[in-house]
Amino acid sequence: MNGAAAQRNSPGMAVRMGIGFAALAIVVVAANLLTQSSSREARIRMHQLVTQHEPAMRATELLAATIHDYERAVVSYAEGRSRSARTVQAAAQKISDAIADYQRIAVTDDSQQASLLQLKDDLELYRSLGDALVKQTAQRQALQQEYWARFQILHAQLDAPQKSATRFAGGVFASEALLDLSRALNDVRERLFDTIGSPARVSAKSISATAVATAEAAFAAAMQRHAGNLIKTQGEPWVRDTNTQFARVVVARRSLLAAIEELGRRSAEFRDQGAAVSGLVLTQLVEPAQQALTDADQLAVRAVANADRQLALTSAVVLVLTLFISVLTVVSVAGPVRRLTRATRELAGGSIRTRVPRGGVGELDSLAGAFNAMAEQLETAEGEVRRHHAQLEARVEERTRELQQLANHDPLTQLPNRRQLFTYLDQAIDRARVNGSRMAVLFIDLDNFKTINDSLGHAFGDRVLQAVSDRLRQNTAFAGTFSARLGGDEFTVVCDPVDSVEAIQRMSLTVLEEFQRSLPIHGRDLRISVSVGAAVFPDHGKDSQALLRAADAALFRSKELGRSRATLFTPDLIEAASSRFRLEQSLRLAIERGEFELVYQPEVCFETLQTHAVEALLRWHQPDGQVVMPAQFLQIAEQSGVIMDISDWVLQAAIQEAAQWYSRTWPQARVAINVSAPQLMSGSFVEGLEALLNKYGLPPACVEIELTETVLQTGATTVAALHQLRELGVSVALDDFGTGFSSLTSLERLPLSRVKIDRSLIASIDTGTRSPAIVRSIVGLSRSLGLQVTAEGVERPAQLGHLLADRGVQVQGFLVARPLAAAKIPAFVDNSRQHLQDLMLAAPIPDMTLEVTGGASVHALRTATIKKREVTSDG
Ligand code: C2E
Ligand code: CA
Ligand code: CA
Repeated sequence: MNGAAAQRNSPGMAVRMGIGFAALAIVVVAANLLTQSSSREARIRMHQLVTQHEPAMRATELLAATIHDYERAVVSYAEGRSRSARTVQAAAQKISDAIADYQRIAVTDDSQQASLLQLKDDLELYRSLGDALVKQTAQRQALQQEYWARFQILHAQLDAPQKSATRFAGGVFASEALLDLSRALNDVRERLFDTIGSPARVSAKSISATAVATAEAAFAAAMQRHAGNLIKTQGEPWVRDTNTQFARVVVARRSLLAAIEELGRRSAEFRDQGAAVSGLVLTQLVEPAQQALTDADQLAVRAVANADRQLALTSAVVLVLTLFISVLTVVSVAGPVRRLTRATRELAGGSIRTRVPRGGVGELDSLAGAFNAMAEQLETAEGEVRRHHAQLEARVEERTRELQQLANHDPLTQLPNRRQLFTYLDQAIDRARVNGSRMAVLFIDLDNFKTINDSLGHAFGDRVLQAVSDRLRQNTAFAGTFSARLGGDEFTVVCDPVDSVEAIQRMSLTVLEEFQRSLPIHGRDLRISVSVGAAVFPDHGKDSQALLRAADAALFRSKELGRSRATLFTPDLIEAASSRFRLEQSLRLAIERGEFELVYQPEVCFETLQTHAVEALLRWHQPDGQVVMPAQFLQIAEQSGVIMDISDWVLQAAIQEAAQWYSRTWPQARVAINVSAPQLMSGSFVEGLEALLNKYGLPPACVEIELTETVLQTGATTVAALHQLRELGVSVALDDFGTGFSSLTSLERLPLSRVKIDRSLIASIDTGTRSPAIVRSIVGLSRSLGLQVTAEGVERPAQLGHLLADRGVQVQGFLVARPLAAAKIPAFVDNSRQHLQDLMLAAPIPDMTLEVTGGASVHALRTATIKKREVTSDG
């Protein structure tokens, strides 16, 4: 689907986190900067508040206070509460200082400068008014002092006569006038006190001169009234003087009241200016300063609030952003993970078509891609498996059919096989039992089929078996019977039902006859023969097994009797079969019990007068002391398979023995060992032999393997094994040469080193007419192929005489030596020279001129020996 197209560029986890945190960082930094600027502004405002507006405010207030102080100082001086004008000067100086301070601290712009200038002008005026008031006060005080001084003088003028009047009579009148005058003067004083009051009374309005003037007028009137009297008593100068002084008091009173009135006026003026200046300070300085302070305060509060708000906003934005990033991350991770988990579960549950939707963070997206690719591969693989499975099933079905056919039929001949035979037989027996009838089994075995196989090849052998089957199937003689192939060259015919035992005997003979007629194979007519064994139910067996055993025993007897025979079962055959069985059983135990022995028969060379080799021959010592020869048990051993164990034992024992000779008394030791067909074809024969040679330290050249022609005809594997043997350095001898079919051709085809001429040819070499020629030609042929030759079964000197004509032919036979126990071999080898010389001398020279081919040395030896014998017998 999208397996390979999985290369999307979705940003990865790290990138996403990076972007998220970068955004967060930017927001935090920006917010921080903003908040910082806000708080900086707040700080500046606060600073301004502290460093500018508050001092300005203080300076303003101070200024207002100094003005007020000044006013108080002036007023207090003017009202006489303070007597020192220096207080006023100090207060004035304080105003100047406050103005300077204010200018230094609070004046920052031109409008303030302008206000200040105006204020300065007003203050200037105010101070000049103050100064004038002070001066006026001083003047008033001076005038007041002057007034009281004059008043005192007048008072003293009036007092003086009164003190002296007591001294003379007539003074009563004078003192009355004087008292009147004193009272009038007191009244003047009281009226003035009433008018000017305390020195604090400066207001001109409240001064009314009338009362004083009235009192003064009363005094003047009293003066007038008492003038006459006074002139008499006091003298005229006194009266004149008193009037003058009174006039002076009145003048002083007028000046004083005018000054007081002036002072009142000036004081009002000063107060008015004071109010104006205070108002100005209040409106121009204090209120703006208060306003500025309030404004600055509000600004600071606002800046702080602003900073707070920004901080809160930043926190909110950071929170929201964090939440957003978290949600985004969770969504881009959790979603794909959930999808992957679900898909994995489905896949694990077997739904192979599951695919994961793509998306999410890069890593999970590529994981999803990989998952899909895997699922696709699984799907493909499953398809493949399913297809394969279907094919397999079809093949299994086909094979099952074949196997069923195979299970019940023999693949070569298509006849029913052993299995089907048993089924059929059981059914036939059941039928016969139910019907109370008879049925019979015939065992048919081809005579010498092994020879056909060996000599004409297995393919030909197969054709023979097929031809036999065809005949069993098609020939009318077998109509109504059931034919099966048991295996190998054994066939079975079931006759169901049969009337009598005689009828089955007739049937057996028919079989023999049918197979005496030639079989057409590859356009050739082949003549064969068969042996037959027959058994009848219920006479010879009550079940299929018993019946087949009976037929087999009958067949065995036919074979024993010499082929092309038919035998009907008799009970004594079972006894023979069971003794064969016992033999087989004891054979199996023979190795364990150590009942086998190898004896060694020398092969000698008359050219060198030495023992060339010894052939190992098997003997079986049975517990009853009887020695059983190989011919009596080898066939059964081969049939039962025991031959393999026996052969292994022989090989091992022979090599072990030869190794002893080789290492002790006989360095040229050679042992010839007979090897059976199954042994050589086992596949591991050569390796086994090599292992044994290594184990016992025997050189391969000390061993010769003897094989019969039948072994050599078994095919390519055997030939390969022989080549291996030759490569190893082991000699190979062809045994029993001259008895088989195609002996001469095999000589060239096979990697042989020796030919052993069979006893049957040697037997008549001294008597027969053709044997000598055959032996001669075999010897000649072998020589030309580079093969050594051994003549077997030499029993008589005459036979030896014939053989001695040929140089280098080795001789084996009872004449030279019977098979000897191993222990006797070293002695034989040691004495062989003398022994062979004796044999040679005893051998008659045949009446023919074959010496041309013989060895000169042998001839010379013979001549010399014969001469010696003649001399000896003569002597
Ligand atoms: P073979 O290989 O041809 O062995 C020679 C046989 O001829 C031996 O018989 C030997 O005793 C006999 N023989 C030797 N010289 C004479 C003679 O001058 N006159 C007569 N009449 N016979 C002579 P044996 O030992 O009974 O062996 C019979 C056969 O059994 C052997 O024939 C061989 O084919 C087979 N055989 C013997 N030992 C073994 C063995 O260890 N393994 C296998 N596979 N076969 C063996
Ligand atoms: Ca042999
Ligand atoms: Ca032989």
